[in-house]
This record gives sequence, C-alpha cells and structure tokens, in this order.
Amino acid sequence: MKSVRCRDLGVDCDFVASGDTNEVVITNMFAHSVEHHHDKHEHMFGDKAAALVGDMEGAIKDA
Ligand SMILES: [Zn+2]
Repeated sequence: MKSVRCRDLGVDCDFVASGDTNEVVITNMFAHSVEHHHDKHEHMFGDKAAALVGDMEGAIKDA
C-alpha cells in the first residue's frame, strides 16, 4: 500500500490518499483536492498539474 498526505504537499490538511499503485494514490489525491481545496484549483490543470503529479510521486511513501 502506498500513501501521500496533503501535508506532504504543503497543504494544512490531515487527508491521506492511499492505494496499491502511484496512479491510484494520485487519482485519489486529485479527487480529494478538487472537492476540498478549491483555492488550489489553478495547480490541478495544464503544466502546473504535471508539476503537482511530480511532487506527489516524490512524496508517495510505501505504507
Ligand atoms: Zn486535503
């Protein structure tokens, strides 16, 4: 199982996205972010989304 916390991405939030693969973790984190972090929406599209995915991959830990 892999996981990444909002906090690992610099967001003051206790949510943890988890899954068996990086892809699932990232999908879950995006779904959570769209719903709960509207103020960060500009980071979820286009070039910034690619950078965010890179940050997530770097922050994902085996748990
Ligand atoms: Zn969050």
